[in-house]
Amino acid sequence: MLNNKQIAGKFDLLAKLMELHDDNPFKIKTYANAYLSLRKLEGNLAEMSKAELASIKGVGSTVADKIKELVETGEMKALEKFREMTPEGIQQMLSIKGLGPKKVKQIWKEMEIETIGELLYACNENRLVAYSGFGPKIQADIIEKLEYFQASQGKFLYAHVHKQAEKCLELIQTKQTSTKIEICGDVRRMMPEVKGIELLSDAALVDIFPEIESMEYIDDQWYYMAIPIFIYVTESARFDQELFRLNCSESFYAAFSNEELSAGDDQMIFKNKGLPFIPAEFREHTDALSKNESYIQNLIEVEDIQGIVHNHSTYSDGLHTLKEMADYVRDSGFKYFVISDHSKSAGYASGLNEETVLMQWNEIENLNNQFAYGFKIYKGIESDILADGSLDYSDDILAGFDIVIASVHSVLNMDEEKATRRLITAIENPYTRILGHPTGRLLLARRGYPVDYKKVIDACAANNVVIELNANPQRLDLDWTWIPYALEKHVKVAINPDAHSKESIHYIKYGVAAARKGGLTKELCLNTMNKEAFDQWLSRK
Ligand SMILES: [Zn+2]
Ligand SMILES: [Zn+2]
Repeated sequence: MLNNKQIAGKFDLLAKLMELHDDNPFKIKTYANAYLSLRKLEGNLAEMSKAELASIKGVGSTVADKIKELVETGEMKALEKFREMTPEGIQQMLSIKGLGPKKVKQIWKEMEIETIGELLYACNENRLVAYSGFGPKIQADIIEKLEYFQASQGKFLYAHVHKQAEKCLELIQTKQTSTKIEICGDVRRMMPEVKGIELLSDAALVDIFPEIESMEYIDDQWYYMAIPIFIYVTESARFDQELFRLNCSESFYAAFSNEELSAGDDQMIFKNKGLPFIPAEFREHTDALSKNESYIQNLIEVEDIQGIVHNHSTYSDGLHTLKEMADYVRDSGFKYFVISDHSKSAGYASGLNEETVLMQWNEIENLNNQFAYGFKIYKGIESDILADGSLDYSDDILAGFDIVIASVHSVLNMDEEKATRRLITAIENPYTRILGHPTGRLLLARRGYPVDYKKVIDACAANNVVIELNANPQRLDLDWTWIPYALEKHVKVAINPDAHSKESIHYIKYGVAAARKGGLTKELCLNTMNKEAFDQWLSRK
């Protein structure tokens, strides 16, 4: 069944395709608006009646009919009509962030290019600059986007695969009870991006796949819920060793001798080497081999998280009110909550002007007085880092927040030197306590701006600023590979969900998974602090 985001996505594509084909601008606007209001809607669109659909703001009866059609038939005729008129490569270009219908139309109609490969070739031949609106800078930018698009093909977010992997394993096991099967590879190592579901088995499996619902066979490849399944078959005697190999990075695996590897299962392999057990997600860098048992046992776990930092409410672009968010966090067992709506320059996200900030502070104070049982809401803000590195409120307002998270949201097109300087200026601002999503990357969609990680982390160390590991599974930014350097410099890491709805606070688990890969311990995470320690940290700067 289609979820709201998928349904909304169809209207986005429809609007873009219609624009590409110079269709009626009023209709285009209707569908573009439908996309905007549907993508964040609560409730399940697929289960609503036509009347319910039509009553949604931004959805009239035309759009409601189309949703019904889509849910009932799996197709939208209007969309199919435009798709048929548009080459596949052109549709792919529309899905690339930053390539709008106007540019794609020029590429198609003026340059007569119809595939990503052709376009990349044309860019590399410097052909685009001959066309109006395509300077050398835009061309270079398009090259980067296309290369990223090509590299991301055949990759999925861990968050979108891990549950399916377990479900798939369970279904296979019920059909083939005597076979030894384990999830392995990318999913087992909790890589932020995975190539699909990888399974190790001691017997052939595909014979039973046709009996399993949701299994599909397309072009020599089996899929479970549209995710490719890679099956590695090994003889029973080598199963443990093979599983160990698949669950380690190459360099980590290379540190083991054949004799050590033949010891038995992974518990035995580590024991035989005289090492504490290292979980699969931490079998990345060989440095992990030098960690003692207490270090490994102190690797961060979801249960260690005491407070939820970096959240949005309806004051800016969140789905739930401040109170709904706070209640949910409290009822989920956490001890404190930092609200950090967008700041005033974030017009795209209804950022808060000074007056609204004061209103929010007032509401927080009232709520804190009611929650007189150890739960606290902190007055935070996600303050935009402007192009010159400054924050977008006066010092008076900044001083009134308990905590300022500084993040870049606009003018993302910067070279490394400029981006690094911009971040460092923000880090040096005396009010900044956390640097939010340091590179602005969106996995599988947008590479972050380039930064000199060492300089940024060094600046955090010098200014007592915490660096965020944004736990949204599409961000996971700071990249986990930089955690060891942050730890070396004693820079604490905050694992923050950047929640725009109540349920998204559980993104924390993806942040924790990435943090474990980088060897983050409880002690070096900011929000494992209890409320008293957190208060103390806030008061020190
Ligand atoms: Zn942000
Ligand atoms: Zn945010």
